Amino acid sequence: MPDNVPPVASLLVLWDVDYTLADTAGVGQLGYRLAFAEMFGTEPPRLSSMAGRTDHAIALEALTLAGLPDPRAVVPDFVSTLARQAPAVAALARANGRALPGAAEALAALAVTRHRQVVQSVLTGNVRPMAEVKLAGVGLLEHLDLDAGAYGDVSERRADLVELARRNAAERYQADFGGPGTVLVGDTPYDVEAALLTGARAVGVATGRFTAQELDAAGAHAVLPDLGDTGQVLAAILSG
Ligand SMILES: [Mg+2]
Repeated sequence: MPDNVPPVASLLVLWDVDYTLADTAGVGQLGYRLAFAEMFGTEPPRLSSMAGRTDHAIALEALTLAGLPDPRAVVPDFVSTLARQAPAVAALARANGRALPGAAEALAALAVTRHRQVVQSVLTGNVRPMAEVKLAGVGLLEHLDLDAGAYGDVSERRADLVELARRNAAERYQADFGGPGTVLVGDTPYDVEAALLTGARAVGVATGRFTAQELDAAGAHAVLPDLGDTGQVLAAILSG
């Protein structure tokens, strides 16, 4: 490289899945029903919102509400069982799932941007096989390196996933994604909080249950109404 060309800074873009890239309504709930049926022969208890929470956290709540004596001890088994249900929910993900407007265009545009070396992966509360089935069902796998991301089985704390994704990506690309070298794109204040706690940038997208005002109040560096305007999406993600 000639001396006068500055090194291109690397950027790790970590997309949330549910209600950021895709709407696969019912798929997550079906996974929990199948996992409960397999492990306990029962229906899962009624849960508070799944939005923005990791499967580790949701499983802990579900197992606690189900009255298990030591729910925390059962979480690893439960999330493994949940992961094994992925093939059984694939048909529903294909039939009912939809990529959110602009998601495919944003992923494709970032994949060819010349401003930064961009690595795209996911940071999701889903266990990996569920995330993969959902993204495959709506046709969004092409530009995502799933090995560089992090998934909801490892921790109930979403911020823990940021550090794990950074390590995974650093190892794969021999690049530093520290601080604002990582940007999270998500639809809930939990996505924003995970970014802020780890020095990453946060781009909120108001296509879930939270408004643009709520994502802004949570501290997002940029907030978009949706992914519909690819230029606006790229500007928000690349501006850090
Ligand atoms: Mg989400």
